[in-house]
Amino acid sequence: MGFDFDTLKVQAGYRADQHNNAVSVPIYQTTAFALGDSFRADRLFSFSENDPIYTRLSNPTVDVLEKRLAALHGAAGAIALASGMAAVSYALLNVAGKGGRILTTARLYGGTVDSFSSVFPDLGLEIDWVENPDDPAEFQNKLTSETKAVFIESLTNPLVTIPDLEAIARIAHEHGIPLIVDNTVATPYLLNPFEQGADVVVYSATKALSGHGNVIAGVVIESGEFNYGNGHFPQFEKPLWFLRDGNGMERNVLQVFPGTPFTGRLRAVHLNYLGAALSPFDAYLVLLGLETISERVAKQVANTQSVLEYLEQNEHVSWVRYPYAQGNPYRTLADRYFPKGAGSILSFGFKGTEEQMRVFLASTKVFGYQANIGDVRSLIINPAQTTHVELTLDQRKLVGLNPDTIRLSMGLESAKDLIADLDQAFQTAFAVRRR
Ligand SMILES: *Cc1c(COP(=O)(O)O)cnc(C)c1O
Repeated sequence: MGFDFDTLKVQAGYRADQHNNAVSVPIYQTTAFALGDSFRADRLFSFSENDPIYTRLSNPTVDVLEKRLAALHGAAGAIALASGMAAVSYALLNVAGKGGRILTTARLYGGTVDSFSSVFPDLGLEIDWVENPDDPAEFQNKLTSETKAVFIESLTNPLVTIPDLEAIARIAHEHGIPLIVDNTVATPYLLNPFEQGADVVVYSATKALSGHGNVIAGVVIESGEFNYGNGHFPQFEKPLWFLRDGNGMERNVLQVFPGTPFTGRLRAVHLNYLGAALSPFDAYLVLLGLETISERVAKQVANTQSVLEYLEQNEHVSWVRYPYAQGNPYRTLADRYFPKGAGSILSFGFKGTEEQMRVFLASTKVFGYQANIGDVRSLIINPAQTTHVELTLDQRKLVGLNPDTIRLSMGLESAKDLIADLDQAFQTAFAVRRR
């Protein structure tokens, strides 16, 4: 207890003496766990003893990852899942059952936006959209008695905007509903959203959290402070047969998981029955990546600053979006929430023809052209035509995403090589005009 982030990221949630003295977290590659005698089985199946039974529900390798992530956020509980999309969808299904509404904005990961339009309404869960997320009053105005949560990203992709987390959390809490924050782009190194009032934080651990571009994983973390017994969430208060005690008495989620009702219910219901479990090997990869998150993200932020300065004086660039870019409107919020840097993504406007832009994208040799972010390798993409193509034209207009947008995700290469790579790609692209 009381350790700093950098100590927790390599040590929290694990004790070698509980794992045959193995120093590196072992990969428990097993489906099931011996139950011992039938009395122990009774205790395990009535939640009075918490050892693993079956890897879909829990696994010691995955458990270390969950405990470590909870510790890194000073949070009560965490649950690891097979992808970021599973984390987003399970978190929302957990809080808003049939007939519930979620209040959000179009400034989200493209897959999330599309799932809100294409999948959730069919499951009985409706989405309301705030048109100008920069104005917290709009969140206030769009809340209804059926709204069960506000869902936002703390640092958005691709245009790197910042919502006023504290103001939005206050509005959600005044209505007795939780604020759920997707903190994928920000990373826990740069921002702990629980300090700004978030109640639930989700990640795609696929991105900078693991950071090596070699795993798909997600996580849901809860503060443990939100009161799901306030009358807005009957699903947390309803006694359930599968939560019965040793005497066969039905219990509700708040009774069985008093400190961690959100992740407790998510494990018992969504992970258990919908089944997007993270494999022990993948949990190991995320743990390994987490060990260096501070060092990686700090260098990625420094590289972003260097590339930003290069792009700001480039004649082929019409604008650059990054909170620390000249004249950026999010500078004040960045100083408040992101003093260590506003992440390692930036976007810019390509001042040329469509053909020149295609040549530019084809000409980078250090920046890889692919749909990912937060990798140790630097990446480039045209989001309006790829990662965010799921947004409707109206949503793209709302977000301000134009076809000339190029997004960079900075890796760990040398800043000099990154800048030289962009420079030679600009030269190649604009040589086209002279032919
Ligand atoms: C990538 C991403 C997701 C989805 O995560 P997967 O691991 O690809 O399923 C969700 N939210 C954000 C902000 C993302 O960048």
